[in-house]
Amino acid sequence: MPIKVTVWNEFRHENKEERIRKVYPDGIHAVIAGFLKEAGMDVTCATLDMPEHGLTKEVLDNTDVLIWWGHMAHHEVQDEIVERVYNRVLDGMGLIVLHSGHASKIFSKLMGTRTDRLRWRESGDTELIYCVNPGHEICDGLDEVIKIPEEEMYGEYFDIPQPDEQVFLSWFSGGELFRSGCCWRKEKGKVFYFRPGHEAYPIYYMPQIQKVIINAVKWAAPKANMKLTTGFTGEPMYKRD
Ligand code: ZN
Repeated sequence: MPIKVTVWNEFRHENKEERIRKVYPDGIHAVIAGFLKEAGMDVTCATLDMPEHGLTKEVLDNTDVLIWWGHMAHHEVQDEIVERVYNRVLDGMGLIVLHSGHASKIFSKLMGTRTDRLRWRESGDTELIYCVNPGHEICDGLDEVIKIPEEEMYGEYFDIPQPDEQVFLSWFSGGELFRSGCCWRKEKGKVFYFRPGHEAYPIYYMPQIQKVIINAVKWAAPKANMKLTTGFTGEPMYKRD
């Protein structure tokens, strides 16, 4: 069975700014969905302006891994939908948060920290992404270092809880460092934060960046079949199908 992926994009920069539309004419989500489909995944897209932001209960129940890209309109995401996504993650759906999604309501809620806090500079720095966990599934088939010629800089301190697994660290030409690939487990769900992807640069066209996201989807997809029964029933707390 192919992994079912929903790519969620705020889709505002591409609609409002010509210079961004030139980079992503059909939206960031279309590019991400394209290479995931080529990798054999079953992909649908959802955007902020769709009813319920495109994240109805049916859509989420049919999603193994949700990818999240947002930036200028985090505050427009309804709390009710955030709660719905949050519960799906705890119930086992994988979540991949990209770039400026670090300040999204869903990521802050899952982390429990002020995840909007980090250093940043939009000055076309070179970024070197070092794989610091070469045995990790997300690093399969990658080069040791991924070089992005021009990117927005993110620097520490980044207010996140210590990752359960650290996969990538970034260096920027201004001298800053950043924890750019981080994994957490939240109840039954897995969460991966991946830093690159500023909207003004063609980052998601880079084969090595695509490979990271494809690997991350495979890592985050639910694999176990364990069902948690809630409430006192006299039965054991955990049942395996
Ligand atoms: Zn950015």
